[in-house]
Amino acid sequence: MLEIQGNHLTAGAGVRLKKLVSTAVQNGLGGLEWMDGIPGNVGGSLRMNAGAMGMDMVKNLVSVTCLDEDGEIRSHTREELNAQYRSIPDLVHNFVLQAVFEAQPAPAEEMERLLEAARARRKLSQPVGASAGCIFKNPPEIPAGRLIDELGLKGACVGDACVSDVHANFIINRGHARARDITILIDMIRKEAKENRGIDLKSEAQVIGDRDPQF
Ligand SMILES: Cc1cc2nc3c(=O)[nH]c(=O)nc-3n(C[C@H](O)[C@H](O)[C@H](O)COP(=O)(O)OP(=O)(O)OC[C@H]3O[C@@H](n4cnc5c(N)ncnc54)[C@H](O)[C@@H]3O)c2cc1C
Repeated sequence: MLEIQGNHLTAGAGVRLKKLVSTAVQNGLGGLEWMDGIPGNVGGSLRMNAGAMGMDMVKNLVSVTCLDEDGEIRSHTREELNAQYRSIPDLVHNFVLQAVFEAQPAPAEEMERLLEAARARRKLSQPVGASAGCIFKNPPEIPAGRLIDELGLKGACVGDACVSDVHANFIINRGHARARDITILIDMIRKEAKENRGIDLKSEAQVIGDRDPQF
């Protein structure tokens, strides 16, 4: 479900961000172009408060309708949500059904320019191989990728799981990496960051399954 009314787009939880952006642009509405390269749907991206280029999902949000943990369907305005960096904790137990996003009328050339800029930036700064996106949240002191690079860990591997040469906050599966290889590599990076720089790296990617609860 994806509908437009004035400057507002109402999207079901399963709508891909790419579709949300392209529909907005086709209808002369801008401000969502930054979402274009993020592989995700509206529901999961809101839960993660996905972001890029200084923006995040909650900044474009007007309201979200959820199946709340008590089984009721309720709408919540942006102001009612306790949004954080890469997380909206209110959505852990409240399942997103649909959300309303605000965009602004914008010239077609300007939106195209912003889309191209976002794509070019991703192409230059992110690896092409199989990955889960950024592994760690950026700590306040330094972007996680730069920190891992400074620790000399670019290219470090456990099995086929390797720290990307292009962007050190990405772990690439070079072919046959197992979940265990990736979590061992994550632990190695966190240990180095703590021991050498006193920084506690927090995971941005969620690890599901039988795992150390601090993840
Ligand atoms: C190559 C690559 C690049 C990436 N770039 C970025 C980036 O630039 N910025 C960024 O923030 N992330 C990025 N990511 C990470 C990821 O794509 C985003 O976080 C994305 O928004 C997740 O959306 P999803 O639909 O895949 O959610 P999922 O991964 O399926 O789910 C994420 C979480 O949300 C929960 N969830 C799913 N649906 C709902 C719902 N309807 N209601 C409530 N909770 C729900 C899930 O249970 C899970 O806990 C990248 C990933 C990759 C692989």
